[in-house]
Amino acid sequence: MSITLDQNKMLIQMIKEFTANELAPLDMEIDQRGDYTDGLFQKVVDTGLLGMTLPREFGGAGFDYVATAQALEHMAAGNASMAVTLEGHFKTIEQFIKYGNKALNDAYLPSATKRIFAFSMTEPSGGSNPKGISTRAIKQGDNWVITGDKIMITNGGLAEVYCVLSKTEDDQLAVFVVDKDMPGFKFGKREDFIGLKGVPVGEVVLNHVVVPESHLLGVVGQGLEIGDNAHADARILMGAVLAGIMDHELATAVSYSKERKAMDTPLYQLQVTQEKIADIAIARENTRALYQKGATNKVANQPYDEIAAMAKSYGSRSAVLSGDKALQILGGYGYSHEYPVEHLIRDARAMELAEGTIEKMNVEITNAEIAK
Ligand SMILES: Cc1cc2nc3c(=O)[nH]c(=O)nc-3n(C[C@H](O)[C@H](O)[C@H](O)COP(=O)(O)OP(=O)(O)OC[C@H]3O[C@@H](n4cnc5c(N)ncnc54)[C@H](O)[C@@H]3O)c2cc1C
Repeated sequence: MSITLDQNKMLIQMIKEFTANELAPLDMEIDQRGDYTDGLFQKVVDTGLLGMTLPREFGGAGFDYVATAQALEHMAAGNASMAVTLEGHFKTIEQFIKYGNKALNDAYLPSATKRIFAFSMTEPSGGSNPKGISTRAIKQGDNWVITGDKIMITNGGLAEVYCVLSKTEDDQLAVFVVDKDMPGFKFGKREDFIGLKGVPVGEVVLNHVVVPESHLLGVVGQGLEIGDNAHADARILMGAVLAGIMDHELATAVSYSKERKAMDTPLYQLQVTQEKIADIAIARENTRALYQKGATNKVANQPYDEIAAMAKSYGSRSAVLSGDKALQILGGYGYSHEYPVEHLIRDARAMELAEGTIEKMNVEITNAEIAK
């Protein structure tokens, strides 16, 4: 049974209410504290939000990417961190659905409404070149033994199930599913990042972790394809998060410009302010159009890699520049921790790096255009 338009509307309404009641009031506190407030993530779990995209056969709500991306935009307009935490989980679940075998999916996906999943590729030696990783998966009988060090993993420490990009003995790339409860699995350092302060981004250390053959996603040699697919899925949702950040920047700038006067004139009546507000609104709409096209193409089984890269490339740069414009409208207050604009710039800046740097995405967009 497919999801109806009414159910999509109910999802958006529910997310708006949850964001207004539970997330937006804590946005500044999360940034200052550098973590989610106590019990907040559990509320997200208890509300059933982890199962938003999970197919109903595994106990999820089964919403598609069009509805999910829209939901994350509304959430990010109140708190971008929690929207990114969900993005990391949703894009990982997609790889199980696309590449996971029945035994793996039956064992793991029903728990994805309660346990968060993460995708780990980056290592201390670098993230832009997955072929250069050192993590090894050695075949021993019917099992694989995995050893390596993954860093900067979204939800690292919070997530309980990890997809791990590894190299086999013959240097092929493959993705394995590792559970935090397996012997040899350990959490390492949490990054002290400057933005998205609620999201734990951390290290995962694997010391001879033994997984059965069923924990291989797809086949050996498909690791790069799965990583690219995870990136494309993530970039649609990050485009949505970035549109949400611009919603927040715009709302803050608009409300301030109505209250604050220069001489006797409200700021919004000045042409210099109007140019900035219009620029932010246009960038927000453009980013929205890009991520929605990416989501629509994905749902329709049409190619979406390039448009997803555009949503995140354009959206991340625009949200940083828009934040700067909003900051300028607020004057000295914009530069203060008292208002959210400065942390919105820091939040948006993460997405010029995470899920592929802006440079890597622009290479991919150019390659796609050259190949046409
Ligand atoms: C908030 C956040 C969340 C993250 N979450 C995850 C996660 O969940 N899972 C995960 O695996 N990783 C994650 N990462 C890591 C992220 O994917 C890497 O930071 C990113 O891939 C870049 O790798 P690097 O930091 O090692 O930089 P490098 O790869 O060392 O790159 C350094 C610079 O060189 C440029 N560069 C490198 N190669 C090229 C090239 N071929 N062409 C043009 N320019 C190039 C880069 O664009 C960059 O400017 C996250 C990072 C952040 C900031």
